[in-house]
Amino acid sequence: MNPENVLSELIKINTTNPPGNETAAAHFLAGLLKEAGIACEIVEPVKGRGSLIARFGRGPKKLLYMSHLDVVPAGDGWDFGPFSGEIREGMVLGRGAIDCKDLAAAGVCALLQLAKEGASLKGELIIAATADEEQGGGHGAGHIAVHCPDKIRADFAINEGAPFPLSVNGKMIYFIQVGEKGTAWSRITARGISCHGSIPSLGENAVVKMARAVSALAEYRPGVILIPELTALLAELAQVRELDMIPTPQNVDELLSELDIDTTFTEMIRAMTRMTVSPNMIQGGTKTNIVPDFCECDVDVRILPGQSAEYVMQEIFDLVGPGLEIALTEYREPTFTSSELAPYRLMKQLTEEMAGPEAVCLPVISTGATDSKYLRDLGIPAYGIGHMDPGYDPSLSATMHGRNERIDVKSLRFKTEFLTELARRYLT
Ligand SMILES: [Zn+2]
Repeated sequence: MNPENVLSELIKINTTNPPGNETAAAHFLAGLLKEAGIACEIVEPVKGRGSLIARFGRGPKKLLYMSHLDVVPAGDGWDFGPFSGEIREGMVLGRGAIDCKDLAAAGVCALLQLAKEGASLKGELIIAATADEEQGGGHGAGHIAVHCPDKIRADFAINEGAPFPLSVNGKMIYFIQVGEKGTAWSRITARGISCHGSIPSLGENAVVKMARAVSALAEYRPGVILIPELTALLAELAQVRELDMIPTPQNVDELLSELDIDTTFTEMIRAMTRMTVSPNMIQGGTKTNIVPDFCECDVDVRILPGQSAEYVMQEIFDLVGPGLEIALTEYREPTFTSSELAPYRLMKQLTEEMAGPEAVCLPVISTGATDSKYLRDLGIPAYGIGHMDPGYDPSLSATMHGRNERIDVKSLRFKTEFLTELARRYLT
């Protein structure tokens, strides 16, 4: 089966999470692998929530290709059936086509190709196509990392997580994700004194107190932190744009506007260079004629390496001032893999070879998290890719978690070839 057919079949298996039902997709892939005589198993901590693990080759080296089998809900307004898996006009159509059944199909097809060639590997290629990534991974990679980490232990891993290639001045820039920001979700609580809404001056209005706090959060101007990988990325972008600027924390925003690239990408880089604070849920008051004595606001805070929980609490306190309660509701450290390691150089070299002489490959960090967090917590270097064919249509990336998700067959084959060749080079 070629990668587009594998992807098409995977899309037809509805693995919307919740509830997931990834076991059906894991069984489909296991069937293909078993036919080729490849050992695989399904780890299923909860009925229906299966993750596929397959291994091929023997020896001390270990390379892991990770992906996830669940997808986010499709919603309405599609121009085709979200679970049709149709292959039409050079595209594979449906939910999961770029997140992340493409990578699952590419990984499995890479392994099948190596098996077909009879490649004599000096190590193992491991495939983990997991459940539950879109809801935090507790039934998938998270479960495996806690209960059977040896099944996925590897010298390094490739996973999803990088932005798609970006065209700047006719040059294609490819990305390797080397880190993910951490989360420090916080809850702010304002308390007041309740009274009748017709004489509000008798009370103390908690909603009004919170309104001031929310305005202060909106005005937050966080300090800029440039990790070396981001400095390298910005320096390269400046060079491609022929700008005479050396990136520093002081000139990042100016540099970003001078670069004049895609807005989504610009804002993504801005968020990669600082802590972000976004008040996203608010609740207070019970009735129009009662002055509220309680108001609560949930704030999405994303942090960079070096920013602790204490730092976040202090920053929020300094912004909103005394008299409000501030608590962390969820905390996860940022995770990071060095771009100085040999596997990074191998990936960079292969990417630039495959994408043509005008392509460059650069490191980025993500503003959100993937299952790579579990790998990095286990000490496994993990790199994210979003590789596409150099001629792909950049508007495809907006279909991720959106309507009309799809991938071009060329990009799917590019990914498959990348994974096949990377395994050949690393494991032989
Ligand atoms: Zn994903």
